[in-house]
Amino acid sequence: MSTVVAIDGPAGAGKSTVARMVADHLHYAYINTGSLYRALAYAAMTSGIAFEEITPGFLQGLQLEFCGADLYLNGKKLDTQLRKPECAKGASVVSAKPFVRDYLMPVQRQAADGQWIVMEGRDIGTVVFPDAEKKFFVTASAEERARRRMAQSSEVADGATFESILADIKARDERDMNREIAPLKQADDAVLIDTTGLSIDEVVAKIASYCKN
Ligand code: C5P
Repeated sequence: MSTVVAIDGPAGAGKSTVARMVADHLHYAYINTGSLYRALAYAAMTSGIAFEEITPGFLQGLQLEFCGADLYLNGKKLDTQLRKPECAKGASVVSAKPFVRDYLMPVQRQAADGQWIVMEGRDIGTVVFPDAEKKFFVTASAEERARRRMAQSSEVADGATFESILADIKARDERDMNREIAPLKQADDAVLIDTTGLSIDEVVAKIASYCKN
């Protein structure tokens, strides 16, 4: 049994920062499920395999597990290497494959098992934990998300401009919302939080107050 607060939403909406702070505030564990998809993209890149070309057999050769909020691939802790723009793009490509989502489903459910947990992603409230106690869909305009991303130097490619970041965000939205399996969408019973013009502290306070009610 686990108690899950699901936080879903598009790229760059500030979900990770907010979800981590909500987890701290509630004294819950925290899992970022995007890192799983990024880890598979990273594994493909380091094996010289194109994102489109990964196979179920390739996944079977990988060992992916959380230890707390830290993610390990074949025994090696993954961290900043997952934040690169190439990994973000690759994650969005591999995540559209049904066998990838099937492979990651038990990893996510197992990570939550027996915990009070804040889990963030794209399909946590709709597919991974449709019975989550609380669900939030955190979003912001594409322009606002691009502005925020621009301020996160670790996630910005060399030479990127506001226009190129905005185009990447829109392309990722398009892929995530229109894939056939587990597309990004608000669960019917999720609370919509539009963070455009709100500070991080205001968003965290809003979500925390819903969780306490
Ligand atoms: O959240 P983050 O930007 O790290 O996610 C990277 C990509 O992983 C997303 O663009 C999306 O394609 C995929 N993803 C997903 N389902 C999740 C989390 C992430 O499809 N639950």
